[in-house]
Parts: sequence; structure tokens; C-alpha cells
Amino acid sequence: MGEALTPKHMRTDLFASRHIGINEHDTQVMLRKIGVSSLDELIDKVIPANIRLKEPLALPEALSEYEFSKHIAGLAAKNKRYATYIGMGWYDTITPPVVQRNVFENPVWYTSYTPYQGEISQGRLEALLNFQTAVCDLTAMPLANCSLLDEATAAAEAVSMMYALRSRAQQKAGANVVFVDEQIFPQTLAVMTTRAVPQGIELRVGKYTEFEPSEEVFGCMLQYPNASGCAEDYAGFTEKAHAADCKVAVAADILSLALLTPPGEWGADIVFGSTQRLGVPMFYGGPSAAFFATRDEFKRNTPGRIIGLSKDKYGKLCYRMALQTREQHIKREKATSNICTSQALLATMASFYTVYHGQEGITNIASQIHSITASLEKHLKKLGYTQVNQQYFDTLRFVLPDHLSAAQVRTIALSKEVNLRYFENGDVGFSIDETTDIAALNVLISIFAIAAGKDYQKVEAVNKVSTISGPLKRTSSFLTHEVFCKYHTETEMMRYIKRLDRKDISLAHSMISLGSCTMKLNAAAEMLPLSCPEFMSMHPLVPEDQAEGYRELIHNLSEYLKVITGFAGFSLQPNSGAAGEYAGLRVIRAYLESIGQGHRDKVLIPSSAHGTNPASAIQAGYDIVTCACDKEGNVDMADLRAKAEEYKESLAALMITYPSTHGIFETEIREICQIIHACGAQVYMDGANMNAQVGLTNPGFIGADVCHLNLHKTFASPHGGGGPGVGPIGVAEHLTPFLPGHVLFGNSQNQVSAAPFGSAGILPITYGYICMMGTEGLTQATRIAILNANYLATCLQDTYGIVYRGATGFVGHEMILECRKIFEETGITENDIAKRLMDYGYHAPTLSFPVHGTLMIEPTESESLAELNNFVDVMLNIWKEIQEVKDGEADKVDNVLINAPHPEYEAVSDQWEHSYTRKKAVYPIESVRNNKFWINVARIDNTLGDRKLLPTQYGTFD
Ligand SMILES: *Cc1c(COP(=O)(O)O)cnc(C)c1O
Repeated sequence: MGEALTPKHMRTDLFASRHIGINEHDTQVMLRKIGVSSLDELIDKVIPANIRLKEPLALPEALSEYEFSKHIAGLAAKNKRYATYIGMGWYDTITPPVVQRNVFENPVWYTSYTPYQGEISQGRLEALLNFQTAVCDLTAMPLANCSLLDEATAAAEAVSMMYALRSRAQQKAGANVVFVDEQIFPQTLAVMTTRAVPQGIELRVGKYTEFEPSEEVFGCMLQYPNASGCAEDYAGFTEKAHAADCKVAVAADILSLALLTPPGEWGADIVFGSTQRLGVPMFYGGPSAAFFATRDEFKRNTPGRIIGLSKDKYGKLCYRMALQTREQHIKREKATSNICTSQALLATMASFYTVYHGQEGITNIASQIHSITASLEKHLKKLGYTQVNQQYFDTLRFVLPDHLSAAQVRTIALSKEVNLRYFENGDVGFSIDETTDIAALNVLISIFAIAAGKDYQKVEAVNKVSTISGPLKRTSSFLTHEVFCKYHTETEMMRYIKRLDRKDISLAHSMISLGSCTMKLNAAAEMLPLSCPEFMSMHPLVPEDQAEGYRELIHNLSEYLKVITGFAGFSLQPNSGAAGEYAGLRVIRAYLESIGQGHRDKVLIPSSAHGTNPASAIQAGYDIVTCACDKEGNVDMADLRAKAEEYKESLAALMITYPSTHGIFETEIREICQIIHACGAQVYMDGANMNAQVGLTNPGFIGADVCHLNLHKTFASPHGGGGPGVGPIGVAEHLTPFLPGHVLFGNSQNQVSAAPFGSAGILPITYGYICMMGTEGLTQATRIAILNANYLATCLQDTYGIVYRGATGFVGHEMILECRKIFEETGITENDIAKRLMDYGYHAPTLSFPVHGTLMIEPTESESLAELNNFVDVMLNIWKEIQEVKDGEADKVDNVLINAPHPEYEAVSDQWEHSYTRKKAVYPIESVRNNKFWINVARIDNTLGDRKLLPTQYGTFD
């Protein structure tokens, strides 16, 4: 009884039905429960009619997974893999296969969330503490954070930090100058400039040898080895700067520090840079993790997250995020940085690279690179070239003989599929990396020999040598902790990684219903292309014709994002949502200046906003005006009008999240935009909640001028345990001339990242998501995300209660669960509920944001009805447990909530002194047995680790 295969049959493999967890039958069941007759009716009730799109999104027809795999392979094939020695902050590297397969390609690592919930994050916390330890060892600094976005933004953070640390005298004198040595990478200087200007900080570029301290200089910025590759001895300079009360920040090549005296040993105050070459592919510029190390006394001013040691309530040593439950520096108006999502997954990879290689391995890699470089210097000198770097690690710079031009060398190099570095003054150079072998060395020699018109002899072997001498030669040891000594075989390494990943809850285990963070499926078909060598090992500064695959992908993706958001232009440069906010505000500032409105210096932000909004506005040099919310959680229109009127002349922008951080589609959004525009100000939309808009409405249509997207929320890119993220910005037509440029592509305006396209390497994920979902799939995803949230709201409204609802009584794509009454009645907090969820195998929803004493739940479209129902069962069972405390059935001080989570070692211990059973503690409902997540540590002591900050593996509490 065979049916004929119609084209429709052949497309039953459509990806949307794999991505979306709810089918037609489930939908009907859920709608009945909610009490509406159709999905259309529900959507009509949730999203105001006046902002609904009239037409479907004009996107190409959806591809199946198989079709996409062929399409993306075609794009990859358009990238040409030349041997690239451009250096300048990106170096080819060898990702240990054991790390690529077990970390980079492992959903436990890439789908986990930022480790705010320490008890179910011990694995990645340990990996990140290893990262900090490696950074501290290599730089010889006592304290490091666990990543920033890239080297250039880390430089900008260093400037802000030094500014915040000015002495009283400097503050009084209005010191506002940072001296920057001219030998700094141009992209670093460009990003520092973008950031410094609106903060009123002047960057004074000069030769460090000619630096004269003065009253207005509060900090200095050096690069080591410098932008030409020369390692200078900065000890004298640093002494001089310190004598004048100037801090010294140093951009350092982390691998070079295996051979060079680390900046911590010659007095640097801040050492930062990229860890890309520690086993992280170049990815056409990113993502990779920046490191940031400093002195212990500056810990409270350090941007980013710091992992520290602590103990659980029974005294077991454990790891946690120190100094903060959220980032310490995001303090609304008092913010000193806006870093939220950073580069956790890449920091984790770099950390495993150091663990795998250890001191000996890292030293060998560094000295192999250096020896090949030294050999090349010798051979090229013999060919008549003059090398200018007196001391170097991996980079040589040659002055060409008079009869030879760089263009001639370039032609020869390209014919051999080699990219060299061409300096502005006509010098030619190269940076050697871990992948450079004898064959590659011979190709390099041949290029220069042919250019010189001379014969050359093939080199058979390179001896291990060091040309580094005097005070620049490192003598101290590093990576001496046992973690860097134990895992040098693949078996041991594989098991170490596995031991850590078993300690972490990720999407591979259960739903992570984090409101505002949109933890949806990161599909394998979207992730696979990342492992494609043509995407992995591509330097961001290769000639464009070698990166056609990337260029086409970037072009297509930008076009699709324009369609989805209703905007005229896009920049993919920002490396996180907060970086997008910052970039968007800089675009607004540039536009206002261009129309003679540069005096506008205030940004209006509702009190419910995410902390990064005010933090970004402060970084962009704006003053914050806070606008109140009414008791329904909406922007208080009367207050908005009043503030808009009051600051009519000085308002630059409104920053608004839509649907609101309360998960509600405010009906007045159009009016809000009009009020702001009427003042001559711009509307910035925070697009973190875009998952509730795609296909149904969009920021351009609503009337916003700028919006950032979080590709790591709405567009299926994974969270990586706290990064990488991508925070592209879309802008309306009038703002397109001000989008970020890149200094090495001829225009440095508003540049916000080191690489021209930010984290280009992970764009195939979002590209795949859009290609495979298509218009219908994307729109259906939005509808189902809203259905799922309303279903959970219906299931939980009679117990916990839902804090805010929209005008017609429904929620958007997320909802806020009331927990404040529970606390009043029983003393049990939302934090206790969060910890108790771990015993059931769940990661907590968003805690105490945006409303204190609540949990915010966002199920996303990817979860199945079975999973939603299981989560409801769990929440209702926890509700029962709360009632037992309330009714006096359970002890007020010894109950399953206050004691949660219950670690395995407690459950199996010979002593059990609780007033309830072990079974109730660890198998509270039957379904838990099927998917038990064994917790490794009991509740973590949050204050111990802050009283004594121990940011490396060497720390002890004794
Ligand atoms: C996540 C989020 C941000 C910040 O994004 P990052 O990528 O973490 O920098 C900003 N606003 C809202 C509402 C968010 O949910």
C-alpha cells in the first residue's frame, strides 16, 4: 500500500519540527488547559494588534538539516587556507583533539549556563579556576579574572580601571591622560579610543622611551612584545611611571611569557591579552578569551567574573563565583564596566590546553616557535635582509633592500599560498606559530630567497636555541600546581574532562528555564560547521578573496537579520549583548553629534532594566535618568512623559526592553517611541527578549532606532557556560553611516571589537538556525515560546501565583513566579527553592531579577510537553514541601528546602540526622530516579570565599 512520494513527504525531515518541542496535538491539549480556543487567539491576546506585522518575513525557503550541511560545506569550501603569518594578535594553534572532541564539541560544556548556581557548576568552575591559575602563573600576577571579550576590549577595561583607581591628588588635578606606547596593535588602540573619548579620557600616543610623567597622566599602556614583535625591557619605564603615581597596564602575548620575564616580575599593575593561541582556533577573529590579571589590592575594581575557592556548609572545599552573585561592577549608575557574558567556553578550552601540556609542554611549544623564528632570522640575514627586532619571541620585521618592494615579496608569497605581514612603512615580517614546521620554514626562506634573487639551501632541522638574553629571559617556574602535572596522557585528560562535566547541569540534562536568557536548543546541525577547518583556522586579516565563504555567510546573515528586525543596517562586531548596547549607544552619540545635537547627555532607563543597560550607558559617557514602573510592571507612562518633558533638551536616548523584562508586551510601546522621538532623542531597544517577537512583530516596525540581538539567546547560539556571545546591532536607515568600522579595513569609527566581525567563527550557528527554520519555523517558534510560557503560568498560578500579566491577562514568553508570600509565611526564600530544584535535577530559573523575591521562568519553544509537565510536577511538589513547613508538618529549621541541595556524599553517609528521610531528600518524586543528577557539594558558603579571596588553585584557607 505504498503512498507516492510527493515533494511534501520528502520534506518531513524539516528542521523546525525537531527544534520545536510541541506538536499540533500537544498544542490543543495545552490550549484547552490555558482556556483559549486557538493558538492564533492566544497570540492575538498577547501581542498588541497595532504592532503585529502584516506580512510574513521575506526569508528563503527552509533548508533541511541535510540541505544545510551541503550549503554550509559549499561556503566553507570558498575559504582558502593559506599559511598565514600575519600575527597581530591572532596565531594558528593546535587544538588538542581531546579538548576539541570532549569540550568544544560537547553539549555539556557548550550548553551550560553562567555558573551563578555554584553547586551544579563545579566542573566549569574548576576549569575556570585553572584558567585563572595559568594566567597568574604565566603573568606572575596574583589575581586574574576568568575572561574578557578580547584583547582590545580588555585594554579599554584596563583604561577604565586605572581611571577609577586614580589617587586623590590625581582626581583633584583632573588627571585624564593615559600614555600609550605607539607600538600597540592598531585594533587595540582603535577600541581604546572608542571607549576613552566619551569618558573624557585622552590617549596620548608616543614613544615609551620619551615618556615624561606629568600631573595629568594617571596611567600607561604598553605592549609586550610590542606591535612590531620586539620585546623591550620596560623595567626602568615602569619604575619611572610608578614614581609619578602612574599605573602601568601591559598587553602581553601569553605564550611568549613562557620564555620572557613576565610583567608581574617587572612591576606591571595590570596584564591582559588574548589566550587564543592556547589551543583556540582563530575563527576569522573570534571568539577567544581575553585574560586580565592584576594586583590583589585592585580586586574590587576588576571587571568580569572572578572564580574563587570556598567551602560548602559541611566544610568541603569547592568553587564559586567570588565577590558577587552577579558581576560586581554592574552596579547600575555606579557601574565601572558592563561586562556580562564573556568567553567562558574559550577560557575553558585554553585552560585545558595548559592542563594538558603543563609547564614542560608549554615551554617546548614556545621554544619551538622561538627556535624556528631564530633560524629564519639567521637564514634571511644571510640572504641580505636586515631584521630590526633586537629581542623577539616569534615575530621578525625586515627592512627590504632598496631594489625590492613589499609588493614584489607579496606576489611571490601569494603564489606559494602564504600571507606575510606588510607594515605601513614597507617593511615585511611574519609571526611564527605552533603549527609552523620545517617544511613551512623552508617555504618562508624560499619566498625571501626568490625575492632577493638568491639561491638557498633547504634546512633539514632546527636546533633549539634562545636569543632572549639579559633581564628579558624568564627564570621563574610556572604551572607548578599538580593539576598541570597529572593529565598529560589522553586517557587521563579525557577522564579529567569527563569528571568535571559530570558535575554540571546543562541542557543535555534538563530544561534550563532562565527568564531573559532563552536557553533554547543549540542544534547539532548548527554546531557541526564550527569544527570545519575552513572556518576554524582563518586569520581575520587575510585578503578578502581568501575568505569568500565567511564573507558570503556574513552578508547573508546580516540580510536575514535585517528582515527579521525591520532594520536597514547591521553590525556583527559586538561580542556580547552588553557590547551591543555599548556599540548602539556610540552609534546614537555619533549620529546626534552629526546633527548638532552632541550636547544631549542623558539616557532614560526604566527601573526594571537589566543591569547592563545603565552600565553601558555610563561607559558611553551618559548620565542615567531612571523612569518608574507601575504596579503592573509596565513603564509608568505618566513618569515617562514627565521625565521626557523635564529632559527634553538633554535626552539622547531611551533604553527599553521589549517585551519588558517582566515578560509583558506593553500596549503603549508605539506611544513610548513617539514621546521619545518628539524630544529629539533615539529609542534603543534591548533585544534580549527578541524570542517573543520574531515573525510576529519587530523593533523596526515598532519604531525603535537601534536594537541589539543576543544570538546566544534568541538565535540558538549556546551560552558556553558564560560565553561566547554575539550581540549584533541593527539600526534604522539614518544611523547606518555610524555603524562600527575596523581600523585595518580603513575606518576605525566606533570600533568596539578587535576583529572586524567580532566572533565570526560562531556565526554559522545562527545562520544555520535561520536557514533551517525559515519564515514559518521562526514564526512558529515564537508562537510556541509564548504558548509554553502561558501553559506554565496556568499550571502554577493557583499555587505560587504569577506577578505580572499583560492587559488581557496573559504573559509573554516568560513569567515571574511569586515567592515573596512564601518567605513571609515560612521564611523560605526563592534561593531555597532554587537550591531545592537541584535535588530534582533542575537548574533554577532566573533568581530575583527583575523583581526581588521571585523566580522568572522562560521555557522556550524547544521543550517538549513531557518536560514541561515534569517541571510542573516538580514545582508543585516543592510547593507541597513548602506547605509542610508552613503547616508545621516539617521542621522550620531542618527541612528539605533550607538544607538543599543534598549532595551525594551526604545522602550515602553513615550519619543521617535530618528530620526527614533520605528518600525524601534525594528521590522526592518517582521521576527523579530516572534522571538523577548527583550533586557534588552541599550549599556553598557565600561569604567565606569573599572574606578571603582565593583566585587560584594554590589557595588554602589554613
Ligand atoms: C542577557 C541580557 C543582557 C546582556 O547580554 P550579555 O550578552 O550577557 O552581555 C542585556 N539585557 C537583557 C534584558 C538581558 O537579558
